[in-house]
Amino acid sequence: MHVIIIGGGTGGMCLAHGLRQADVSVAVYERYGSRKDGLYGYRVGLDATGGRALEQCLPPKLYQTFVATCARAPRFFNVLTEKMRSTTSIPLGELGDGERSVSRSTLRQILFTGMDDVVSYAKVFTHYTQHASGKITAHFADGTSAEGDVLVSAEGTRSAIRQQYLPHAEIKDTGITALATKTALTPEVRALLSEEIEQGINLIFGKGGMMGMLHVMEFPWDENGKPKNGRDADLLNVWDGLQHDNTRDYVNLSVWSADNHFPEGITELRGRQLVDSILECTTNWDPTLRRIFELSDPASAFPLRISTSVPIEAWEPTNITLLGDAIHTMTPGQGVGANTALRDAALLSRQLIAAARGEKELTAAIGEYEAEMRPYGFARVADSLDNNGTSGDDPLYSRRSGRFALFAARTYFSLTGKVPALRRKFLADLRDYRDE
Ligand SMILES: Cc1cc2nc3c(=O)[nH]c(=O)nc-3n(C[C@H](O)[C@H](O)[C@H](O)COP(=O)(O)OP(=O)(O)OC[C@H]3O[C@@H](n4cnc5c(N)ncnc54)[C@H](O)[C@@H]3O)c2cc1C
Repeated sequence: MHVIIIGGGTGGMCLAHGLRQADVSVAVYERYGSRKDGLYGYRVGLDATGGRALEQCLPPKLYQTFVATCARAPRFFNVLTEKMRSTTSIPLGELGDGERSVSRSTLRQILFTGMDDVVSYAKVFTHYTQHASGKITAHFADGTSAEGDVLVSAEGTRSAIRQQYLPHAEIKDTGITALATKTALTPEVRALLSEEIEQGINLIFGKGGMMGMLHVMEFPWDENGKPKNGRDADLLNVWDGLQHDNTRDYVNLSVWSADNHFPEGITELRGRQLVDSILECTTNWDPTLRRIFELSDPASAFPLRISTSVPIEAWEPTNITLLGDAIHTMTPGQGVGANTALRDAALLSRQLIAAARGEKELTAAIGEYEAEMRPYGFARVADSLDNNGTSGDDPLYSRRSGRFALFAARTYFSLTGKVPALRRKFLADLRDYRDE
């Protein structure tokens, strides 16, 4: 059995490792020309679900390297006003140990480690053809093709396989624009931040319908790439991925709002012009936050339109299947898109391994994967759209009732932080949600 995976992203590469570890023949086709190309954002928060999937699929040594390359784990869940006043600060306690702050480019380097013989770069998938023999051919923009027994769509939100295989599955614009920046964690920047903010996941509920997120990413290596920490030095010194990874300590600060809260054409801007435009949209924000924007690397700033998927009914399983954003794109409202892609990859890898070993018929194995993936995947799509203002229809963005919605959100978080029973429930719900 030969498995073709289109897309060398989070879910596709995790699946490829899982299959390879079990000696199932697998090939990944990735559109970018090298493992260093592509801009994926600056942070992804991996939870117990995502961590477990990586532990299942990666070779043990590489999993240890993944753990060693994570940024310092968050210790607090903070909600701030645009003036940087604390609405709440909830210590994450043991929950923080299962939460990992991961640099996207580092995760990419981890996932490509040891996979040179599996991944083909600069292969832009265009369409597939199915043959009476049951084989499938994947076609690429450069005129080449590849043949396999199973085709997995792992090419993210704009999946060409989904458009051909499930043409009724829709992707919807949520009416939200997000703007992200990255600022080096210099002594000046560090001095701007309290310990709780530096060590927290910081959600900003701003007046005027402007939301924000701030994360400080501190890695176990210094600005010259030398391991800071004796314990991880052995692993990091032998990991060739570090040669391709330019990640150094930084602050990831982003803002988002309904599209009509931004000047027209903002998503066309790049560099200094985009940073200046972010500063114009946040004139009522605390000078500290604005200073972090000012000091950001202009080349790092990028705009993003937030999309979501429309859940669909079950379909008949075949030897084509989908995982991650290709089937259940979700907003970042709950921070679980990558975790869900990894969960899919671990589940699909177990099913395909069983099929390759003759323990199950292939279509039945894919059918079992899809029957389990669809409900949890689309449930997370719905939750993500309902949370943290990642839908343009959210009352936070209403010109009329936005102030009341903001007051209600801040009151909810303030009470949750102050009342021990509510705080315990908040943490228990968060743990259950982020642990499958
Ligand atoms: C602002 C933001 C913050 C987020 N934060 C979090 C978070 O904290 N936690 C979390 O769990 N999730 C988060 N997510 C969601 C997460 O990033 C995605 O859900 C996750 O990356 C999806 O993984 P994937 O493998 O499905 O797709 P991707 O990781 O997007 O991989 C798709 C791959 O396919 C390749 N590709 C695309 N088209 C083709 C083609 N035609 N041919 C060949 N290759 C192709 C791409 O280059 C890419 O390598 C966030 C998303 C956003 C937008």
